[in-house]
Amino acid sequence: MAKDGSEMGINTRLAHSGNNPRDYFGFVNPPVVHASTVLYPDAASMAARSQKYTYGTRGTPTTDALALAVDALEGSAGTIVVPSGLAAVTIPLLTFVSAGDHLLIVDSVYHPTRNFADTMLKRLGVEVEYYDPYVGAGIAALIKPNTKVVFTESPASNTFEVQDIPAIAKAARAACAIVMMDNTWATPLYFKPLDHGVDISIHAATKYPAGHSDVLLGTVSANEACWKQLYQGFCTLGCCSGPDDVYQVLRGLRTMGVRLEHHQKSALAIAAWLEGQPGVARVLHPALPSHPDYALWKRDFCGSSGIFSVVLKGGGQRQQHAFLDALKIFGLGYSWGGYESLAVPVFLGDRMIAKGPYDGPLIRLQIGLEDVEDLKADIMRGLEAAAAI
Ligand SMILES: *Cc1c(COP(=O)(O)O)cnc(C)c1O
Repeated sequence: MAKDGSEMGINTRLAHSGNNPRDYFGFVNPPVVHASTVLYPDAASMAARSQKYTYGTRGTPTTDALALAVDALEGSAGTIVVPSGLAAVTIPLLTFVSAGDHLLIVDSVYHPTRNFADTMLKRLGVEVEYYDPYVGAGIAALIKPNTKVVFTESPASNTFEVQDIPAIAKAARAACAIVMMDNTWATPLYFKPLDHGVDISIHAATKYPAGHSDVLLGTVSANEACWKQLYQGFCTLGCCSGPDDVYQVLRGLRTMGVRLEHHQKSALAIAAWLEGQPGVARVLHPALPSHPDYALWKRDFCGSSGIFSVVLKGGGQRQQHAFLDALKIFGLGYSWGGYESLAVPVFLGDRMIAKGPYDGPLIRLQIGLEDVEDLKADIMRGLEAAAAI
């Protein structure tokens, strides 16, 4: 089974998609092809580039194995593999927007995406506008004749608002705008963007696909209408990835289903428990029935991952720092999706619309694969330290 097999269960597809062992003497895993030069048998085939692989930057059996595995999950026409999650954001944007185009970006977007739009894209003459994550079908009123792309990310970075992706995609499609979605939080296991009208699905494979905090990689998957242009942009920019990293992500993908189930279960247990703890104002996790976006999450998603935020009751940066400094198991570090728990202070100073108000400082928690009781005890240390200020 290679590209197809969409009728199979998700863990079956994770285990078998991408490569066919029979292509390489029956070895279960594909080869790690270190490649720049590819030889041609004769001048005519060289002139015509009439063979499957032509040069290392354009793809190898290793990158194909990962790209085809991701296609099987996303239902996409094609996937490019790029050196980081941030590159998975910047490459499709650079490929599809031009000077004079209008770009709509959700205000609760991953901060480096905003930074790229506000610096490079503005310098290149792109008109950038931020919209409310709760805009829904109201996006129609923001779309102009020169709107080229509507960029979405759901749930929101750090604050976890759920966007009405089908309503946004419908309005964008009616206006011939391309819809891109950063789907890193849900992975294609828990949300399939292309099934909801999105044209281009973006992932920081650094997170759950890699799963071990040791690889940076991104994937961008496109529907039939956008695939050719996306692949051309990828080749034009020369932003291919190293084969060892690509291989590590394919390896991670095989166990992503079981890891995610554990992240989901532990994160939900901790989030629900946190709602009842003194010193906690709110828990920003869309799969909690108390969350304002729960109905929307339940309608569109089929699971939740291991990252959410907690709002402390009152206080400010001193309480936030006291909480973080008291933690012994949670590490203080960026990124997420690995096996280990992490905590970061949330900064909302870049937001124009989706900035609260919140009752106190926000802390984002990535729930790793450790035992829930140990993580709860660690969080208690944080809450007690914050309360003691
Ligand atoms: C981490 C992240 C990225 C960037 O991934 P890197 O591999 O760290 O560059 C992009 N989008 C979202 C939502 C992320 O969380």
